[in-house]
Amino acid sequence: MAAQTGFIFANATVITMDDARRVISDGAVAVVGDSIAAVGKTADVVARFPNLAVHDYSRHIIAPGLIDTHVHQSQAFFRGVGERNERSDSFHEWLYRLTLPMEGAMTPADGAASASLCILEMLKSGTTSFLECMTSENHGFDGIAQVCVDSGIRAALGKVVMDVPAAYRDKVGWPMSAWFDPQETIAATLAAHDKWDGAANGRIQVWFGCRTADDSANPDLYRQVARIAKERGMRLTIHHSELASDNAYARSLGYRSHMEYGVDLGIVGPNAVLAHCTAADAEDVQLLAKAGASVSTNAANNAVSAWGPTPVVDMLAAGVNVALGCDGTAGDANMDLLRDLRVVCQIARTHSKNRNSLRAETVLEMATIHGAQALGIADKVGSLEVGKRADLITIDTDVPHLTPIWNPVATMVFAAQGADVHTVVVDGKVIVRDHQILTMDEEAIVADARRRMPEIAARANVPAMRPRWPVL
Ligand SMILES: [Zn+2]
Repeated sequence: MAAQTGFIFANATVITMDDARRVISDGAVAVVGDSIAAVGKTADVVARFPNLAVHDYSRHIIAPGLIDTHVHQSQAFFRGVGERNERSDSFHEWLYRLTLPMEGAMTPADGAASASLCILEMLKSGTTSFLECMTSENHGFDGIAQVCVDSGIRAALGKVVMDVPAAYRDKVGWPMSAWFDPQETIAATLAAHDKWDGAANGRIQVWFGCRTADDSANPDLYRQVARIAKERGMRLTIHHSELASDNAYARSLGYRSHMEYGVDLGIVGPNAVLAHCTAADAEDVQLLAKAGASVSTNAANNAVSAWGPTPVVDMLAAGVNVALGCDGTAGDANMDLLRDLRVVCQIARTHSKNRNSLRAETVLEMATIHGAQALGIADKVGSLEVGKRADLITIDTDVPHLTPIWNPVATMVFAAQGADVHTVVVDGKVIVRDHQILTMDEEAIVADARRRMPEIAARANVPAMRPRWPVL
């Protein structure tokens, strides 16, 4: 099954996500090198490539690899901490007393270990590409990029840029271990871009990873980032229009909304992925469509945080490119993007009281081709088409909860879960087979995470993680 010679996955139901959105029963995908050489009926594909090894994927769905457009790898060690402590009852307590101090206490070795855990989870549950929102200075960019290269995943790494003014740091008690000099964060981002962007056959991108443009940030930094990104053809991601307080802050500066403020800063444009946008109103949606920015809706995570829904249906109707993201596990608790497919649909339908407001087919577009557009790589991935890179997953449907299948897209969206992902291919290379990761040492990564977490919590001096119920 070596990537150089290629292989055929045959006898499956192939959801192509091509322009015609063809779904091929008794279908096959031929992979040669890093790319897709054929997609079609099994008999035709096998006849055209008689020298390729044929692997039987009967009762599997083959689909494009999933694309997660909002990830915090550094929170992989803090899984579920949002529900483990009374401090989590307030967002700011969660952020400033738990998450940021622990992120600040991490070393480059912790950063690579955390990235390994996160990427392991993503690959095993079918995510083949992701956008990391904020790789911090102390997490060691080189080590994390190397984990991406070695694991085989496709990654857009947002390197953090930040400028938290002293007055704000004092006001909230910002942990200084998680603060970095603004110009140094920009210089480090550009150095990382020079070193890693385009590495590993183009699997690695380096982006600007911005926090948020609220009163905790210096707007001049974002104007500078927007300018440099434009000059260098770089992309950026930022949390935007997330909370009612974002809009209140923008209004205090004389803007109608946070979205209008973002447009003025230059960070809401075609090279941007905006996370959340849960506080965007109808006028903001029109602004977004005009600006050409992509949105990453983090449905499950935002539901847990009680942010309210991203107006996904209105955005899609306005022509905004909306993709999906799991966000960090410190709030919600896992990186299973298949889970988010149904959650975003459930939330949209609950909110609209209209079962046709968001169809399964549209949701799968969000997780694949829209994600590829958000990452600026729709010419390479996001669908199974000849000439594109071979990023694909198979779902073993020979299990009770995926039987029977009337509409394979609906089965993926409403019934499948990450653990059903059987095989994962990225850039023509088999990364996961029979649910087993081939490129990483799963046992060592999980054991390492268990060992490091209490050490990080101790260094961060965070309060004891007390569940709400007594543990005897
Ligand atoms: Zn985030």
